[in-house]
Amino acid sequence: MPGFNTTAIHAGQEPDPLTGAVIPPIYQTSTFVQDGINVLRAGHEYSRGSNPTRNGFEAQLTALEHGAAGFAFASGLAAEDALLRALLRPGDHIVLGGDGYGGTNRLVNHLLGPWGVANTAVDITDLDAVAAAVRPGETALLWVETPSNPLLGIADLAGWARVAHDAGALLVVDNTFASPYLQRPLDLGADVVVHSTTKYIGGHSDVLGGAVVVADRAFRGKALAEAVGYQQFAGGAVAGPQDCYLAARGLKTLGLRMERHGSNALALARWLRDQPGIAEVLYPGLPEHPGHELAARQMSGFGGIVSLQFAAGEAAARTFAESTRLFALSVSLGGVESLVCYCSEMTHASVRGTELAVPTDLVRLSVGVEDVADLRADLAAGLEAALAAAPDRPVLSAV
Ligand SMILES: *Cc1c(COP(=O)(O)O)cnc(C)c1O
Repeated sequence: MPGFNTTAIHAGQEPDPLTGAVIPPIYQTSTFVQDGINVLRAGHEYSRGSNPTRNGFEAQLTALEHGAAGFAFASGLAAEDALLRALLRPGDHIVLGGDGYGGTNRLVNHLLGPWGVANTAVDITDLDAVAAAVRPGETALLWVETPSNPLLGIADLAGWARVAHDAGALLVVDNTFASPYLQRPLDLGADVVVHSTTKYIGGHSDVLGGAVVVADRAFRGKALAEAVGYQQFAGGAVAGPQDCYLAARGLKTLGLRMERHGSNALALARWLRDQPGIAEVLYPGLPEHPGHELAARQMSGFGGIVSLQFAAGEAAARTFAESTRLFALSVSLGGVESLVCYCSEMTHASVRGTELAVPTDLVRLSVGVEDVADLRADLAAGLEAALAAAPDRPVLSAV
């Protein structure tokens, strides 16, 4: 079987048979001419049902995730929404990893809640709590992100899969942070992987997209591929050909980029933990991280996201986030350029004031692939500004 990078470059991306173009064309078309009524030339009828550019990207990602079938959507949340509506019925219950993407929480609570789908949020690192949250006969899905966002907790995916399957439920893993280069949840027992392809897969902050990749498994008497494929066609939240082209182009260099994201992130995390004013550096690649050993076992690297907590609290965190230059103040992550985010009021504003609220002294870094010395200098300037801004909020103020 070819290696990861060979698969990333070639799976679903064969040269155009008609012209020999090495890069398959972008099939920017809504419909396909028929040679007779319902006599389709290459199986394509209408681009909501299938489109060669989308199908090529789906095949490429499916191969990398070791799945049976993959489906591309207009955004990560569109993919999650389609998956949930394909599988769930009113009266179902979800066990939801508590430290996750704020938008997933909003979708599950605000859009699915009114349709009769309940959920329980759990600590992703506590398998006993996960098992205790299962409601026999009602829990249809367990849903987890690892590493989590933005606290970088690590969930034991094989353990979560056991709990799910013991309950007759499915395990869905949001693999956006790790990407298939670092972690393949289906190999660890998960049934479904979801992605925001907006992040590392696209990799250049120039496209919005999402994907679902399923294992060869059935649920409620139907193959997962059939259930999700029908939802994609009938619900219609598909990714367009231009977006699929950009995602497929990004995916070809995922391995190269993840190596650099990871080495930059590790170097900066090690440097940051020795800087004054920093209370915590959250990065699974640091040996003192509580999930370090588990991450080393189930991942092949630790990724490009680092979160920091400031000893002087909220004012220092906010000033830092507004002071860096190369690290641009922005939501999102996973692009070649570095970003900084003040999560409690940006990405995770929807869970403020709840038990899932993100600490107000925390900033999240999406470490890009720039030269690490330049990134370090930018962080140093931000730290200096943060320390200067918060002189009268000493560490002991909370005591
Ligand atoms: C961004 C993100 C999503 C949502 O994806 P969109 O493409 O923004 O809709 C879901 N999960 C995680 C982990 C994300 O980072």
